[in-house]
Amino acid sequence: MEKERHVLVVFPHPDDEAFGVSGTIATHVQNGTPVTYACLTLGEMGRNMGNPPFTNRENLPKIRKAELQEAARALGIQDLRMLGFRDKTIEFEDEEKLTNTITAIIEEVNPSLIITFYPGYSVHPDHDATGAAVVRAVEKMPVTARPTLHCVAFSNNCVDELGEADIVHNITPVAKIKLAAIQAHRSQTEQMFVDMEEKLKNQDPQMMVWVNNERFWTYKFA
Ligand SMILES: [Zn+2]
Repeated sequence: MEKERHVLVVFPHPDDEAFGVSGTIATHVQNGTPVTYACLTLGEMGRNMGNPPFTNRENLPKIRKAELQEAARALGIQDLRMLGFRDKTIEFEDEEKLTNTITAIIEEVNPSLIITFYPGYSVHPDHDATGAAVVRAVEKMPVTARPTLHCVAFSNNCVDELGEADIVHNITPVAKIKLAAIQAHRSQTEQMFVDMEEKLKNQDPQMMVWVNNERFWTYKFA
């Protein structure tokens, strides 16, 4: 993994960082690179309350905030920003307001790399709208000043339309940290984690590939 000046991660929901990119984040942290994680919402509209439920609708934002902070601690992220947008509404937010929010963070932390969702290939409207806002913010910058943009995509058509990911990080050395980050989002992942652990214990080939490799598409600006 290339050494970066500063990595900015932008996602809409607590736990978006855990599945696809936490090994990459942990590696940058271990390389001594500052990482800023801007999380737009607290995922307060999520349907999972734990299984069996250990929270309720009123307390969910508080729980998910604590889980997000715990995941950030596990990954060694020192700069966690919770931007206070509302879950499931990012696609309806004023585009300029969203773009300006991202621009302000870019101007402040001056990242050499930004990690976000690939607009149009990330399944959830909040994901696509977040990626689109990051693309708009970077597009406004002079070409030579733009940070590299690595996008996460996982829609069914992403490989057909975008081709194979051009960046694949093998994160095996920090897989334990990744699992800790996934586990930190207990309200969302507790059940799933039982199944994951079993498969990992048995070295299930598909699960090993999924955990140990993180794929990104470098965004190509028109
Ligand atoms: Zn999400």
